[in-house]
Amino acid sequence: MACSLLLPPLSSRSGREWLLLLALAALLFSPLLLARASESGTAGTGGLAIKVDQVGYPSDGPKVALVDATAKAFVLKRSSDGVVVFHGRLAPAELDSNSGDKVQVADFSSFRQAGKYFIEVPGVGRSWNFEVDKNVYQRAYTLAMLGFYGQRCGTAVDLGPEFPGYSHPACHQHGEFHSSSGAKGERDNLGGWHDAGDYGRYMVNSGVSTGTLLWAWEIFGQKLKNISLHIPETGNGTPDILNEARWNIAWMLKMQDNDGGAWHKQTSEHFSGFVAPQDDKLPSEVIGTGSAPYKSTCATADLAAVGAIAARVYRPFDAKFAEQALEAARKAWAWTEKNPDVTFRNPAGVSTGEYGDANCKDERLWAAAELWRTTGEAPFNEFFLQNYAKFLPSLDAPPLESWNAMAPMALRTYVLAKRKGADAKAVLAIREHALASARAIVERTRTNPYRVSMKAKDYVWGSNGVAASYGMDLLVANALHPDQSFVDASRDNLHYLLGRNTFSLSWVTQLGEHPFQHPHHRPSGSGKQSGPWPGLLSGGPNAGRQDAVLATLPKDLPPAKVYADQLASYASNEIAINWQASLVFLLAGQLQ
Ligand SMILES: [Zn+2]
Repeated sequence: MACSLLLPPLSSRSGREWLLLLALAALLFSPLLLARASESGTAGTGGLAIKVDQVGYPSDGPKVALVDATAKAFVLKRSSDGVVVFHGRLAPAELDSNSGDKVQVADFSSFRQAGKYFIEVPGVGRSWNFEVDKNVYQRAYTLAMLGFYGQRCGTAVDLGPEFPGYSHPACHQHGEFHSSSGAKGERDNLGGWHDAGDYGRYMVNSGVSTGTLLWAWEIFGQKLKNISLHIPETGNGTPDILNEARWNIAWMLKMQDNDGGAWHKQTSEHFSGFVAPQDDKLPSEVIGTGSAPYKSTCATADLAAVGAIAARVYRPFDAKFAEQALEAARKAWAWTEKNPDVTFRNPAGVSTGEYGDANCKDERLWAAAELWRTTGEAPFNEFFLQNYAKFLPSLDAPPLESWNAMAPMALRTYVLAKRKGADAKAVLAIREHALASARAIVERTRTNPYRVSMKAKDYVWGSNGVAASYGMDLLVANALHPDQSFVDASRDNLHYLLGRNTFSLSWVTQLGEHPFQHPHHRPSGSGKQSGPWPGLLSGGPNAGRQDAVLATLPKDLPPAKVYADQLASYASNEIAINWQASLVFLLAGQLQ
């Protein structure tokens, strides 16, 4: 979840920042820009009523569009010449209580010919264009990974010829230790990803995000190894997903103190205005707990877990880096044994994202499980076996994995390890919980009128990350026990994110014909580029309404409709590396 969950309330943000924000929002919503946005697609009102995955559908998979109108039939037309290639009947309308929409299914699963198409419904109009192809999501995957590259801190970034002008000079060159860190003086500040819409870097959100990317590599590496992202390291012999993840791991390693503990975050004391990265001149500070031991247990345990994964993942490509990561992970683990319960709260004078977590037992379980998976050493196994059982219920009501809930990844990695010496009873229990849960999600997805796994209560801050996490859980279940229904339901959640939703909106910037335009994201809001930075996933509808934009929406809106494509809506339209990582995982799982 984005750090902004822990933003100070509206009233405590600086007046200057809000003035700036409002001015930028006014600029972004100028009639000129709105007119340009409405011309970007070809479908008009039909595109809003006929909801399709604007990227497309794999040739051999289920293909369903949803029609929010009263009609009886639909046709599929080829985009190039309008020739009808498929006729179908619409299913009876179903009321979706999460959105209030009455939708009809347009099923064209039996159509398999690769190409570019749109759906037309007589009396309603036509949908946005989409593709049918064997490997339809590769560009979406590349774009989502470029989303991470665009978040790199401490270096010049340039997205290349496909996105001219999407570049910035090196940002945030100078760092220092904050008085809460227990250290003094200048501090190497280079590396890592900007966490979300702000320029902070936070160890715990880095933990779940980097861990998720490395898992994507471990489970889907064969499909990912040859995909070039055209980043500076491309061609160095290491697959690009690992090159990109390493950019952040290197920063995480720098956050480790000599005693093994890791500081919680590296941010300015308060959020900058909506300026480009290189124009944020606030001092970037390593921030600690304010009293000994200064480092925090959750951050340190996350470093241990990610370091352990990195040790096994990078070994074939860079044995020295793998060894360095493992050594850091061991030192971090040892620190958490001595300091099992040091929690973090923002020290006085600091108002950036807190990522406070009162309970680090799940992070420690994750660290033990990943260290055991990498090394096979008995003490890590013993710690896991002494502690795992009470976390089993976290697999029953997913998605719970988040920056503050690492037990699901801890439990799953123990089974994914397929390691000799694993406790058979633990493996069986984890498998049973994970698979039963996946079957329940599949059933719910099948009966949901929008064919998404979301429950009413899932429309929280970062709900698009919840949808992506359901997809991820299903794909991990498929890795434990192959089942096509898990893969299909995971893809249904991707369809939801890419346009098959109540807004008919692709929630990934610059992807599809009708993507959202105004992320709460400082580089995009700086006005330096003509549109939002590409490949970024919006937080999505949020019935919690924790910002001023959502608070003014009609009171009786159903939860799935509480969303505003506005820069100022940080509670529904911020981007963040944690749900970005789940999107990458979900896309990686669909590649051929
Ligand atoms: Zn930066």
